[in-house]
Amino acid sequence: MSGGMSFELTEDQQLIRKSVGELLKKFDDHYWSEKDRAHEFPTEFYETVARGGWLGITIPEEYGGHGLGITEASLLAEEVSRSGGGMNAASSIHMSIFGMQPVVVHGSPELKQRTLPRIARGELHVCFGVTEPGAGLDTTRITTFARRDGDHYVVNGRKVWISKALESEKILLLTRTQHYDDVAKKTDGMTLFLTDLNRDHIDIRPIAKMGRNAVSSNELFIDDLRIPVEDRIGEEGRGFEYILDGLNPERMLIAAEALGLGRVALDRAVKYANEREVFGRPIGMNQGIQFPLADSLAHLDAAELVLRKATWLYDNGKPCGREANTAKYLCAEAGFTATDRALQTHGGMGYAEEYHVARYFREARVMRIAPISQEMILNYLGSHTLGMPRSY
Ligand SMILES: Cc1cc2nc3c(=O)[nH]c(=O)nc-3n(C[C@H](O)[C@H](O)[C@H](O)COP(=O)(O)OP(=O)(O)OC[C@H]3O[C@@H](n4cnc5c(N)ncnc54)[C@H](O)[C@@H]3O)c2cc1C
Repeated sequence: MSGGMSFELTEDQQLIRKSVGELLKKFDDHYWSEKDRAHEFPTEFYETVARGGWLGITIPEEYGGHGLGITEASLLAEEVSRSGGGMNAASSIHMSIFGMQPVVVHGSPELKQRTLPRIARGELHVCFGVTEPGAGLDTTRITTFARRDGDHYVVNGRKVWISKALESEKILLLTRTQHYDDVAKKTDGMTLFLTDLNRDHIDIRPIAKMGRNAVSSNELFIDDLRIPVEDRIGEEGRGFEYILDGLNPERMLIAAEALGLGRVALDRAVKYANEREVFGRPIGMNQGIQFPLADSLAHLDAAELVLRKATWLYDNGKPCGREANTAKYLCAEAGFTATDRALQTHGGMGYAEEYHVARYFREARVMRIAPISQEMILNYLGSHTLGMPRSY
């Protein structure tokens, strides 16, 4: 090999793909369809992944994980999604993988010891509490407030869209410990906790939504929640800075999941296009059907390359904001477009639940909105990378 540039996965990385693919074969489309329809958490799937040791893929070895990189985690996420499990499968596990990054980097040894090994074993379900109804994408405008009271904080406020809160024991909770108007820099004065989701002080209400229904997303009403100081991550007032550590990995994993959904949708579309005969020939012979699928293959392949570059940069300790954002943007677009075309290829049957592409389509749609909207990614590229004025 010359020049050090390689487009090949290592043997270990290829093994991750293969092992995860094999492991998930028993969770077929019918399993996911049923879980989605019944709004039921995929416990059997979650436990299988946990028993396989995959939940601790990025958790340091001293805390019971494998200490692997985001490259490996993104391969896992892609295979999970590609298995047909899509976002239902991915969101039942991905918080355990990228969500703990602020704890790994800034948590006290005691907090890490108390939580990370349990996450790696699959015993501890966690959710991520950032979004608020009144703040939207402007996270600095959150108002959930943590007031210090001796060796505790007392928290009041409201969160929205918190995925998996119903099933979680703990929440990674972003609060303000100083009001917006009292800080010099708007990102100052926020504090992050990893604490019990105490149902006596937090009312959790699921939101009826378009898809990905095996994993709940919830409104949280927090009323005088007492949090011990030991549950604080790092220093008071620096919470915003800490969540930034998790954002690039989150974007890369979401990109991998979008890619996986696009790939599985494309597989289904090709199969159907080759089998379904209308006007005396397989519909896939028509360029009106074949070209959009070929075009999606090209876009998925291109998006995958940017994702590989982004994870490589991150794992090698290099800045990756531009690439992580671009990967999320391109994978979300390519993944969504592939599911839309897969649906079109199936004609009326695309609209039926029986062929599963309708489910993929609903799930791929969310990746253009969350965890960060496509517009905010373009904002980032426009202002940070191109040096244009900010609208945010
Ligand atoms: C299924 C699902 C699961 C989620 N899970 C979680 C979770 O577990 N934890 C959590 O904390 N949050 C979660 N979220 C919330 C998610 O992160 C937000 O919905 C997302 O960040 C968008 O924020 P918003 O909904 O408040 O949109 P808003 O901020 O209200 O924005 C509305 C629209 O305006 C656009 N817009 C706003 N300002 C600008 C600007 N300056 N330039 C261009 N466009 C702009 C946005 O791009 C968007 O399209 C989830 C959301 C969904 C749908």
